[in-house]
Amino acid sequence: MEQLETLLKFFDLPEAERDYSVIGSFKPADAVGKCVYCNHCKPCPKGIDIGVVNKYYDLARNGDAMAKEHYLNLELHAADCIRCGHCSRRCPFGVDQMGRMEEIAGYFGR
Ligand code: SF4
Ligand code: SF4
Repeated sequence: MEQLETLLKFFDLPEAERDYSVIGSFKPADAVGKCVYCNHCKPCPKGIDIGVVNKYYDLARNGDAMAKEHYLNLELHAADCIRCGHCSRRCPFGVDQMGRMEEIAGYFGR
């Protein structure tokens, strides 16, 4: 919440005081191996919403009580993955998404 409030303050600042320099600190190396839910690895032949599946998984593991319910309400789940490997090959952050799908299916049981 604190981070969100900091970010939203940006919109209250006059144009001259808006600082975009933080963008320069985002290096792809910081995200190597971490799913950032960008969905650049799509399309999935099964139609799994890869970014959303990963987001609910991370939220659930970080204690978000609603994340599991949201995950279970999805039409397709990690267990629907047919292990084609397309997502792992396409991920610009080097995420082993195919392996993650197995991990996520095990966590949620679906
Ligand atoms: S696996 Fe890679 S491309 Fe796919 S959503 Fe995650 S970070 Fe993005
Ligand atoms: S490995 Fe699984 S999640 Fe990834 S594209 Fe193939 S079916 Fe979809």
